Amino acid sequence: MQSHYDLMIIGSGPAGRRAAVQAAKLGKAVLVVEKGRRVGGVSVHTGTIPSKTLRETVLNLSGWRERGFYGRSYRVKQDISAADLLIRLRKTLDHEVEVLEHQFSRNGVKTLYGEARFLDPATLEVTTREGEQRVLTAEFILIACGTRPFRPEHVPFDGTHVLDGDEILDLPRLPRSLTVIGAGVIGVEYATIFSALDVAVTLVEPRETFLDFIDKELMQEFVHELRDRDVGIRLGSAVTSIAVEDDRTVSTLANGRRVSSEMLLFAAGRVGATDRLNLSAAGLQVDHRGRIAVEPKTMQTATPHIYAAGDVIGFPSLASTSMEQGRLAACHAFGLEPPPPPEYFPYGIYSVPEISVVGMTEEEVRQRGIPYEIGVCRLRETSRGHIMGLNNGLMKMLFSIKTRRLLGVHIIGEGATELIHIGQAVLNLKGTIDYFIDNTFNYPTLAEAYKIAALDAWNRLPKHGAEPPVANIISA
Ligand SMILES: Cc1cc2nc3c(=O)[nH]c(=O)nc-3n(C[C@H](O)[C@H](O)[C@H](O)COP(=O)(O)OP(=O)(O)OC[C@H]3O[C@@H](n4cnc5c(N)ncnc54)[C@H](O)[C@@H]3O)c2cc1C
Repeated sequence: MQSHYDLMIIGSGPAGRRAAVQAAKLGKAVLVVEKGRRVGGVSVHTGTIPSKTLRETVLNLSGWRERGFYGRSYRVKQDISAADLLIRLRKTLDHEVEVLEHQFSRNGVKTLYGEARFLDPATLEVTTREGEQRVLTAEFILIACGTRPFRPEHVPFDGTHVLDGDEILDLPRLPRSLTVIGAGVIGVEYATIFSALDVAVTLVEPRETFLDFIDKELMQEFVHELRDRDVGIRLGSAVTSIAVEDDRTVSTLANGRRVSSEMLLFAAGRVGATDRLNLSAAGLQVDHRGRIAVEPKTMQTATPHIYAAGDVIGFPSLASTSMEQGRLAACHAFGLEPPPPPEYFPYGIYSVPEISVVGMTEEEVRQRGIPYEIGVCRLRETSRGHIMGLNNGLMKMLFSIKTRRLLGVHIIGEGATELIHIGQAVLNLKGTIDYFIDNTFNYPTLAEAYKIAALDAWNRLPKHGAEPPVANIISA
């Protein structure tokens, strides 16, 4: 194996993978160092793909999507076990890893399994799985080491009763009750997935609100639906202690309340996996959560030939954005001008029900003083929604009164994370309400919600021009 590369990458998650392929396509010699058992990172092994596979399995086996028609007691499989949930998970992960390994080999990206640390700003020492030490140098280095769950000392993690966000995927058994500490995206996703399995879930969050970047109207809808399903939501009080007593977890809150359950998921954030990188040898520092600061337009760290991308640089910490950051870093390192980043990218929360948003929230539009109009469509207003038996779900669109331009799209309910991309395209192409009014949508589809919501806003917008066509829209 050669000992000098054009680009060395620490970590094979979305950021590392995308940077590696981009640099390889530019004809560069690239080495990816990965300390895990297989390539793919948190995204493939403990984060995005496993949690979404678990969600899909739960929705399928529980018959969740059919309950609108057949009632809350409808089940596809009566006794769902932890083993049922894990079978599909393993198959999906194996497939993802195979695709990634093939992509690396097709593009000539070299992989070395082992743990990397800096010896100096251009040199890494890699301790391989076999315990050998390799010293390697590179023109450019990308740190794409990601994060690991935050595990404070006072939490009695035992892998059986008290689990972190990685351990929940090796679920020893399906609990009858679950406390989730932390109402961030990960906590909310798992809380609602387990609730769909009829596990009694209590979600605990020290702040008075959660998912604050989501439009308030959507959050009201979300909280209403969770309460209707008997999900306990305890906001505004921190957890002062967690204990395991008589085979149950007991969480005591600052306001004196106690929450008891068979299992507890501690999902109060993640920290950058930077503590063993010996970053000081590279002239770099981290913040209190182990994150590295970068120049956002180039992904360069304080040491300019060292880049960082993905979750290790912090917000927004998504696989989707990590990939783009990795590509940007590789392009910048090798002098390729990347296209300017789009103004708006979507957020997807794969809770049950799912939520997806792009563009400005109503609160933001108000803060900026933009005169706006709102269009709303309940998904049950679409014929497709009737066919699917949807009782819930909402799309909300915001338009500028002055320019008629789309300002934001906010969706909660079935298909939200797919539907959002229509809104994203119109938004980034600076489209107006007329796009939705003038175009024909497939019928019956959930995407028709766009037309219905646009017509709803059109009814209140100052008129110029012809009446809108209403073909195909039965309930508009
Ligand atoms: C439960 C959960 C659900 C999520 N769901 C979504 C979602 O639905 N959509 C979405 O877009 N994002 C989601 N995310 C976020 C997404 O997984 C991350 O944004 C993404 O994985 C970050 O990619 P990354 O490239 O920074 O590195 P990671 O995927 O974190 O991978 C980093 C890799 O670096 C390796 N590494 C670390 N240190 C070293 C070292 N010293 N030497 C060698 N290798 C090292 C690690 O072993 C790991 O393989 C989710 C995350 C979690 C935890």
